[in-house]
Amino acid sequence: MRRSKRRRLENLWHTDPHCSHCGQLTILVDPQKDRPFYDNEATIDHVYSRLDPRRYVPKQKGEVRRILACRKCNGERGGEENRALSLRTRRRLAQEGKERKREFKRAHNKENP
Ligand SMILES: [Zn+2]
Repeated sequence: MRRSKRRRLENLWHTDPHCSHCGQLTILVDPQKDRPFYDNEATIDHVYSRLDPRRYVPKQKGEVRRILACRKCNGERGGEENRALSLRTRRRLAQEGKERKREFKRAHNKENP
């Protein structure tokens, strides 16, 4: 896990350590190799999934796009979405998402060189 991502997770957890979906109290686990995973450990969840075009639209001021979720809820949400779509559709959407992200970065860099 990148350091910035870790810090984001810690900040979320210190603000409110409960899962945004089920309300369970989560635990902050030390990131280390080959560690076990816990259903109640804190993870970062995105309000808009990778397959949601809104994820690639610039954020409004103060808009929250990342929330705290327990590993169980985070995994279930992704799993549901994956089961609902064919592999082909998922590949296409992921590709489109990457392109949107690139476009967004390009436009954003122009504004803030
Ligand atoms: Zn949960």
